[in-house]
Amino acid sequence: MNHRLDGADAPYWQGLEQGRLLLPRCAHCARWAWPAGHRCAACGHIGVVWEERPLKATLYSWTRTWHRFGMTESLDVPYVSIVAEVADCGVRLMGRMDDPAPADPRIGEALTGRIDATLVGDDRIPAIIWSRTA
Ligand SMILES: [Zn+2]
Repeated sequence: MNHRLDGADAPYWQGLEQGRLLLPRCAHCARWAWPAGHRCAACGHIGVVWEERPLKATLYSWTRTWHRFGMTESLDVPYVSIVAEVADCGVRLMGRMDDPAPADPRIGEALTGRIDATLVGDDRIPAIIWSRTA
């Protein structure tokens, strides 16, 4: 069984595999509940609803990796890993950015995502690849 499809965040992964960004929201107080869990950290309610969000974000943090390490052989180095803050909900997601070299990314800049995949070993993991918004 695919290990991404049996946890509290399974709808997130299923959404990416269908080309959609789905994020959990408390069914009682409507707070965004990321990382996904079975109980709202704010009000304690059990139960979330999954809402589709547009692939729009701002850059919260980034780093460029220059050297290979295990399981990343499929990535061309250097590559840029980021934390993107999804628009209008504040949820922060790990992701990868189309390398903007030679210019470094700027914290707070607008990003647009597309859903692709990253090969980690032999495992094809759905991933959001972010680019500067044109
Ligand atoms: Zn709640």
